Amino acid sequence: MIPYGRQDITQADIDSVLEVLRSDFLTQGPKVPAFEHAVAEKVGAKYAVAVNSATSALHVACLALQLGPGDWLWTTPVTFVASANCALYCGAKVDFVDIDERTYNMSPVALEKKLEQAEREGKLPKVVIPVHLCGQPCDMAAIHALAQRYGFKIVEDASHAVGGKYHDEYIGNGRYSDITVFSFHPVKIITTAEGGMAVTNDAVLAERMVLLRSHGVTRDPARMTSLPDGPWYYQQISLGFNYRMTELQAALGLSQLKRLDAYVAKRHVIAALYNKLLKDFPVITPWQHSNGYSGLHLYVIRLRLEQIQRSHREVFESLRAQGIGVNLHYIPVHTQPYYLAMGFAAGDYPESERYYAEAISLPMYAALQEAQVHTVVEAVRHAIEGV
Ligand SMILES: *Cc1c(COP(=O)(O)O)cnc(C)c1O
Repeated sequence: MIPYGRQDITQADIDSVLEVLRSDFLTQGPKVPAFEHAVAEKVGAKYAVAVNSATSALHVACLALQLGPGDWLWTTPVTFVASANCALYCGAKVDFVDIDERTYNMSPVALEKKLEQAEREGKLPKVVIPVHLCGQPCDMAAIHALAQRYGFKIVEDASHAVGGKYHDEYIGNGRYSDITVFSFHPVKIITTAEGGMAVTNDAVLAERMVLLRSHGVTRDPARMTSLPDGPWYYQQISLGFNYRMTELQAALGLSQLKRLDAYVAKRHVIAALYNKLLKDFPVITPWQHSNGYSGLHLYVIRLRLEQIQRSHREVFESLRAQGIGVNLHYIPVHTQPYYLAMGFAAGDYPESERYYAEAISLPMYAALQEAQVHTVVEAVRHAIEGV
């Protein structure tokens, strides 16, 4: 089976993790701050807070922005459930903004319309989470301009987009948002096994997230409500969690980070080959806006079903049967049973649902070989033609 995504682990990665295993600290040592510093420097952010997943990063990001009961968070339906669930963790309410038909990212046009209506109804969002689907940056300038006008905060879910760029600058530099979140799950661009990071230029937000990832506990006398009882003393000053990243994970991340640009460049070579080989197929290949450089976490094709004798499901099943580990990113979140029970309904976000009815993620990862790309494309031909 050729999977849709997978990690690439080198001897240097293994050595880096082994060094930690032989050291004094498996957690709360020097590697996590070193990894944070390296990512912040790489993407051009002032502060970085490493946590045990992007899901945790989204949670502490929302809490740092003081999202709570009575507040609204808006995101896109075409994302992993974590981008919406973070609102519910905070006791806030979720709503969705439909996607752009070309980029599959949150549509700034739909966002503006929804904001106009929400303003009339007194239901403006406190936080909006644009998701850089497949690694392609959202139209951040437009979303940021709307944030200025309507007063919401922006958390970029860049789980797909570490190493990607917007207007020639790394995603994560915070020019158009308050916080950016990265995922280091093994299918993503670089990995720490499980892991995530929130980056920001705001010292107050960074400090809040640092507290939240470790029980809301501080050892800094300057932050305490009274003088320390003694050298052992710490104080809990907010309600936090254990969302810490381990030293093993950070060591792996530090080693992987050195290859980030090469990984993204390799993904672009693979995408270019797919684009060329699929040119005359009845499929839509990924449209790329010229203002961005995608992290290319995913390579999604859409079937032109009116030109194909087989159904979306038949093509998908045929690919799996041929040993191609295709996937579908994503089932629109509002159609999940948990969200349907909150009052959402099929038909609420037509562009997202049309996308879901046609999309297939083909294998895309740095270690994918050229010959394997040819194998995948021949399997797509077979799946579509049904012979
Ligand atoms: C993978 C992913 C997440 C969650 O990442 P974890 O590190 O697995 O928690 C969140 N949002 C998007 C868009 C993702 O793809």
